Amino acid sequence: MRTTVGIVGGGPAGLLLARLLHQAGVDCVVLESRDRAYVEQRQRAGILEQGTVDVLRSCGAGERMDREGLVHDGIELHFDGRRHRVDFPALTGGRSVMVYAQTEVVKDLIALQSVEGPPLLFEARVDAVEGADTDSPVIRFTHSGREQTLHCDYVVGCDGFHGVARHAIPEGVRRTFERVYPYSWLGILADVAPSNDELIYAHSERGFALLSMRSPTVSRLYLQVGNDTDPHAWSDERIWDELDARFALKGGGWKLERGPITSKSVTPMRSFVAEPMRYGRVLLAGDAAHIVPPTGAKGLNLAVADVVVLARAFAHLHTTGSTELLDAYSDTCLRRVWRAEHFSYFMTTTLHPDPAQSPFDTRLQIAQLDRIASSRAAATELAENYTGLPIG
Ligand SMILES: Cc1cc2nc3c(=O)[nH]c(=O)nc-3n(C[C@H](O)[C@H](O)[C@H](O)COP(=O)(O)OP(=O)(O)OC[C@H]3O[C@@H](n4cnc5c(N)ncnc54)[C@H](O)[C@@H]3O)c2cc1C
Repeated sequence: MRTTVGIVGGGPAGLLLARLLHQAGVDCVVLESRDRAYVEQRQRAGILEQGTVDVLRSCGAGERMDREGLVHDGIELHFDGRRHRVDFPALTGGRSVMVYAQTEVVKDLIALQSVEGPPLLFEARVDAVEGADTDSPVIRFTHSGREQTLHCDYVVGCDGFHGVARHAIPEGVRRTFERVYPYSWLGILADVAPSNDELIYAHSERGFALLSMRSPTVSRLYLQVGNDTDPHAWSDERIWDELDARFALKGGGWKLERGPITSKSVTPMRSFVAEPMRYGRVLLAGDAAHIVPPTGAKGLNLAVADVVVLARAFAHLHTTGSTELLDAYSDTCLRRVWRAEHFSYFMTTTLHPDPAQSPFDTRLQIAQLDRIASSRAAATELAENYTGLPIG
């Protein structure tokens, strides 16, 4: 088997890259280790930046998103028993975000690809990527019990944090940067209409809480918990009581509606970057190269930004024969990646009390949130980052 671009991983990065390459006339194949149902049901991100929305629309994958997605013009902050709304369009010259689950983005891209191509193989587990520093790298994979080889001009690792493609970059070349946080998120899905039209990020001395949503009838809520928490050790009632306590406002005025909890899971919080994002003819995109804690809603959006830059570089190579944009790929992406890393770190450390922190640290967090609530400049900084900085 031979292709121009071999893509490892059929998550949002791999699927969108395949779509963009297909539209640019660049031949590619996607190899995904899981089956279709698993990939389509994997609960993860839910907030699309303005730039992500624009890309999905322009590549023909935005029709259902525009019908079913919820446009959000702001978020609320709860801290010190008060609430404050950050108005995105007013602060950014009209930008907003879209609530549309990653599961739905993935379903839409798979549906398009299964009709229009390029080839997408499920249950095709990549075992190794070899020959990064040659003109024809190979992907070794197992499909239907048979070991196979895909010869490529380039290989793109879109196989997430636990994937194999990153290891094609020799250890002496690869540098990794990492921070693991001393807390995790207990996330629930509940069959109840969201209690607020927009997301609520709550700072409280009991821990962080987030109100989010998947649709007009399904709420997604999170609680900061200790690492290694067993989600099933938390009864439904205990979860709702703790959410009530953390969202509480001085003087009341807002009520969290309860409903049947249909899913509970715990997500650890990690910041991670692998540099460079290209070595020879192997390139990395999305979670294969970088991870952010979910507080800034950046993970999926960063993956989209990477593959937009990459698809443009491959299209440039295809039409002009020049590798100029491919050569610049790693530096172009890393600049934006580190900005998003900083924003995600800022949101995380401002909103979560560290279990070891002192009352002094808590006062500093409240002072920072108060600054966002009282200064247009500070609120603009948050709004510009949240709605997404320009791609490339
Ligand atoms: C549990 C969890 C919760 C999250 N919640 C949020 C959130 O609330 N908000 C937010 O913004 N972001 C969130 N994220 C981050 C966001 O979902 C990711 O940034 C996004 O999925 C990145 O897309 P990707 O395509 O780069 O990687 P992935 O979505 O991880 O896709 C990688 C794909 O590669 C496949 N693969 C892996 N190894 C191989 C192999 N050897 N061979 C073939 N295929 C392989 C995998 O099966 C997978 O389909 C969350 C992530 C996780 C893990």
